[in-house]
Amino acid sequence: MAQTKLVFDNIPICLVHKHRVKLLRDSTAIPIVDHVLDLSALSPNLNDALWPVPQRTHDTCAVCGTTKEVTSHHLVPREFLKHLPYETKLDILQIVDLCAKCHGIYEREANQFKIKLEKSLGVVTKDVLDTRLMRAKQCAGALLRYRDKLSLSRLGYCLSDLADYFGRYDFNTLDLEEIMSKPHYARGQNRGWLILNRYKDLERFALLWQIHFVEWYLAKQKKMLDKACAE
Ligand SMILES: [Zn+2]
Repeated sequence: MAQTKLVFDNIPICLVHKHRVKLLRDSTAIPIVDHVLDLSALSPNLNDALWPVPQRTHDTCAVCGTTKEVTSHHLVPREFLKHLPYETKLDILQIVDLCAKCHGIYEREANQFKIKLEKSLGVVTKDVLDTRLMRAKQCAGALLRYRDKLSLSRLGYCLSDLADYFGRYDFNTLDLEEIMSKPHYARGQNRGWLILNRYKDLERFALLWQIHFVEWYLAKQKKMLDKACAE
């Protein structure tokens, strides 16, 4: 059976499994047409009930429950937040705790979603070669491969180039691997601004990201639960 697609303001958000579709359809009373559940007419007071953002604990990953390497994740990505005035930012600032591994997995999903947003909103950005990131990736590679064998001066150069790009000095193996996986053809630097500019209603923009994250989070949790039951 074909999966149902969630759509909001003409933007396809994600596919959802049938156990979730039934709940969404029953709670929103929105009909499914051609495997599409269009949430644009959604009643605002259903938002938090249907897409509950996990409570913050500051030390436990909301997805897998580990207490190792817990980071904070902004539901509305920083790429957009940085263009907002402080007070506006506070209104839509939702943060969840994710471990480095789960964070990396979701970031990849979020990047795909940003590309979808670009397409849906007709935003055109050029790929730009990010030479500073290229340099940072070389340093991350050197640290990963030769950490113990690097001379002190070489180690210093590598760390300062990484700090120059990322604004910090502490990198564990997972961080370095994540840096290595970043594409150095950065999407146009102004993509966040261009997208925000098209998407005028910030509350709806924040809700879009909330739905995207929570659907991913619920699907991920269900998968883990199913796996645990099967074992
Ligand atoms: Zn995790």
